[in-house]
Amino acid sequence: MPELTASPYVIEDPRFIHLVVGNARLDQLATGCRWAEGPVWFNDMGCLLFSDIPNQRILRWSADATGGGSVTVFRQPSNFSNGQTRDRQGRLITCEHGGRRVTRTEPDGTITVLAEQFEGRRLNSPNDVVVAMDGAIWFTDPTYGILSDYEGYRAEPEQSVRGVYRLDPSGRLARVADDFLQPNGLAFSPDERILYVADSGSSHAPAAPRHIRAFDVEDGRLRNSRIFATIDVGLPDGIRVDAQGNVWSSAGDGVHCFAPDGKRLGKVLVPETVANLAFGGPRRNRLFMTATTSLYAVYLAVSGAQYP
Ligand code: MG
Repeated sequence: MPELTASPYVIEDPRFIHLVVGNARLDQLATGCRWAEGPVWFNDMGCLLFSDIPNQRILRWSADATGGGSVTVFRQPSNFSNGQTRDRQGRLITCEHGGRRVTRTEPDGTITVLAEQFEGRRLNSPNDVVVAMDGAIWFTDPTYGILSDYEGYRAEPEQSVRGVYRLDPSGRLARVADDFLQPNGLAFSPDERILYVADSGSSHAPAAPRHIRAFDVEDGRLRNSRIFATIDVGLPDGIRVDAQGNVWSSAGDGVHCFAPDGKRLGKVLVPETVANLAFGGPRRNRLFMTATTSLYAVYLAVSGAQYP
């Protein structure tokens, strides 16, 4: 297992010292992707699934006894899959650029379409997804997957906005935010009273937003929008929350960690641009990071949030 020897941490606030393991190093677990995304941990199978969007595949990294592992193909073609998570029953939920839809993979492997249009028009290209404790599926719908034929199929958007959506357990789809430039990663606070949503704006427009917004969640609706944190290197893409409520965001130089008050505590430096991340491992204390061509991981002193 290749291991990068330099310490990957930048400690900017003393609180960060308690979140990292001083002698833990960054592991490069796999490489050879074009744009790695969508990591999701399956503890019951000891594996991590992740998307390699341009290569049209979902890969499965299976852990061995020493924390290394091996990679096999889980699904190909993947319909340009991007963000992924699991629902309350443990089923795989996938955003597909190619199908411009959100799907569920049933235990027998068949695929059920959960959402593909809103008000009679096709979604743009669902990007990332999270499932709440009530079973509702929240996802973002920017246009990245229809901008070219590289990460999907080029097309004109049919939606007038790039929305954030909530699919309630009965199947009703509601748009819960419509004022993002490009909504991207999303994650709940451990008590699910706050939803964090990244706006990754445009890499070609420096003045465009590159921040994470926070909302209060009330009865399936979002209120009290505020800017929670700004990413100063690259763009915020995937985000996750740990058990203490800290927000971990992908960034151009690795992963940035923010306290619940929005103060940046520190960084995990990664030698490639990180697009997404997921807590995993048997104790949920290993941070897996999909970073351009590679999958990296680092052990932390904090675990991912276990939602109520
Ligand atoms: Mg994303």
